Amino acid sequence: MLAPLLLALFAAAPPLPPHTPDASVERAQVPEVYRWKLEPLVAGEQAFGEGLAEAARLRERLAARGKLTEPRALADALGLYFETRLLTNRLTLHANLRLQTAERDAAAQDRNLRALDAMARLMALAGGLRDEVLALDDAALARALAAEPRLAAYRPYLAELRRRRSRVLHPEGERVLSLAGDNLWAEIDLNELPSDHEKAYQALRADLVLPRIRDEAGKEVQLTFSNMDRYRASPDRRVRQEAADAVLGALRRYQDAFAATLAGQVNLSVMLARARRYPTALEAYLDKDGIDPAVYRNLVAAVRANLAPLHRYVSLRKRVLKLDRVRYCDLYPPLVREASRPVPFAEAMRILPEALAPLGPEYGKVLRQGLDPSHGWIDLYPHRDKASGASSSGVYGVHPFVLMNYQDELDDLSTLAHEFGHALHTWLSNGAQPYVTAGYAPFVAEIASTVNEKLLSEHLLRTARSDAERLQLLSELANKIRTTIYRQTLFAEFELRAHAAAEAGTPLTAAWLGHTYGELVRAWYGPDFELGPDDEVEWALIPHFYYKYYMFSYATGLSAGIAIAERIEKQGAPARDAYLGMLRGGMSKPPLELLRGAGVDLSRPEAVEAAARLLERTLTEMERLLARQGG
Ligand SMILES: [Zn+2]
Repeated sequence: MLAPLLLALFAAAPPLPPHTPDASVERAQVPEVYRWKLEPLVAGEQAFGEGLAEAARLRERLAARGKLTEPRALADALGLYFETRLLTNRLTLHANLRLQTAERDAAAQDRNLRALDAMARLMALAGGLRDEVLALDDAALARALAAEPRLAAYRPYLAELRRRRSRVLHPEGERVLSLAGDNLWAEIDLNELPSDHEKAYQALRADLVLPRIRDEAGKEVQLTFSNMDRYRASPDRRVRQEAADAVLGALRRYQDAFAATLAGQVNLSVMLARARRYPTALEAYLDKDGIDPAVYRNLVAAVRANLAPLHRYVSLRKRVLKLDRVRYCDLYPPLVREASRPVPFAEAMRILPEALAPLGPEYGKVLRQGLDPSHGWIDLYPHRDKASGASSSGVYGVHPFVLMNYQDELDDLSTLAHEFGHALHTWLSNGAQPYVTAGYAPFVAEIASTVNEKLLSEHLLRTARSDAERLQLLSELANKIRTTIYRQTLFAEFELRAHAAAEAGTPLTAAWLGHTYGELVRAWYGPDFELGPDDEVEWALIPHFYYKYYMFSYATGLSAGIAIAERIEKQGAPARDAYLGMLRGGMSKPPLELLRGAGVDLSRPEAVEAAARLLERTLTEMERLLARQGG
């Protein structure tokens, strides 16, 4: 048996077949090696059906559990719950991934709904389990832990469940809150169900017909919320001004309706928080993930104290785009012309491991393995009925899966670095943790992806072949810091102020919302920025205000990612190992504690300051290169 094995070891990997990305081809026309292999998740159609039946049997056993006051019954129930959850996770992921590459396929949709139904049923059972665990008093739980050694494995899970035990109301109170749509206890929270207020907001947006505008050639076009980005970023100022005015003017006409949906959402959040006796909605929502509200307030204060680089960025736009005043629409057109060369996937497979070499040999080895399409992690190229964008997902015990729509552009290389940040986080956490503490909190998720993007950006700047290429990279970096750290924190402060106003009994009228938003925009963008007559109604354009204190984590994610990447570049191995330790930590510790282990304390301003300094350096370098170009 040795010979074939040796042969396999020494045979060079077969060269990858050529493929030109084209979103209009059928899936079957993309060479097989570029499609992911889902068999490690679920072996096939028959196995999927058997898995669903098995999950239903496990749920029945879980429903028939004994009283959890018995230590043995508690250990049995938790064991059964996690076994069922893992199986159900594999089924939902499998069904979801298949749907992502066949969005309009009725069988794929059906499979996905059946898997989601199994998850919903399990979550309902988990709610009952949680209530019983919360009902145990501390002494009873301590006795159970002492008497039943199998319970030791579930300590972190039990501790996390019971962390907010004092917030649980008596059964009648809980019943009423759940009727009111309380979501402060949802176990799986990433795709939380939208509230009726959010649905009303989305419906209003969908019903709103935007005006027609004239494009660059003077031709009339129908503006929509989906093509708005393209016209708002037009190099032709007349076009982008018309587009921005058309969108904001339309929102202005319905501003009272939009104010009513947002006020409804904010008032609901305040009511749910008060029902559980939280002093503010901020504290209630952050407590779900165990985040200290000081982190939120620190982010807002630190960004406010570091607005000078953003003002400088606005001034640079004014100079480069040759404007008298920078208006809302002038924030969107590209600052420099496109100069990057195409990056075919074979090149990405070479560049990415080089760029991420500072993360060490072990990281590099797993990265190379995942990037090699023959290993089945990636679904690389676009085709008909494939989900747009990119994502990474995984389930315990199986390697992660990465969805791409790779089109041989520099942007795609950044996206690849981003998604492999998530994928390797999953891989490292799953490899180091038992199932109970594998995975990671949403709050830290965007750190692993931004560390990779930052390292890639440094590498590309070092190896760029021309000033024009370097300028484009710098311009993208500056824009990313503006949109992810500055803009999201503006939103975060607006969200905070709106809730504080509602908590103080101030009605959230369109006038109040517009005035508050306009004040923030003026402070953020500085003296060279001019607010147009309808610009302050932009708050009505942002769906994220319905996400309930989620937006700030984009800003903390990028600032922490930048701070960590800079530590690794400066200090090498010790900083790298501390960071990898955070990734391997999974859910074994609270997210802020894991982050402190990687050298970042988000209750202090340093991470935001590092990002602000990076923006300063980026602008200085851009100005130098532009001067050299005579610009
Ligand atoms: Zn991401």
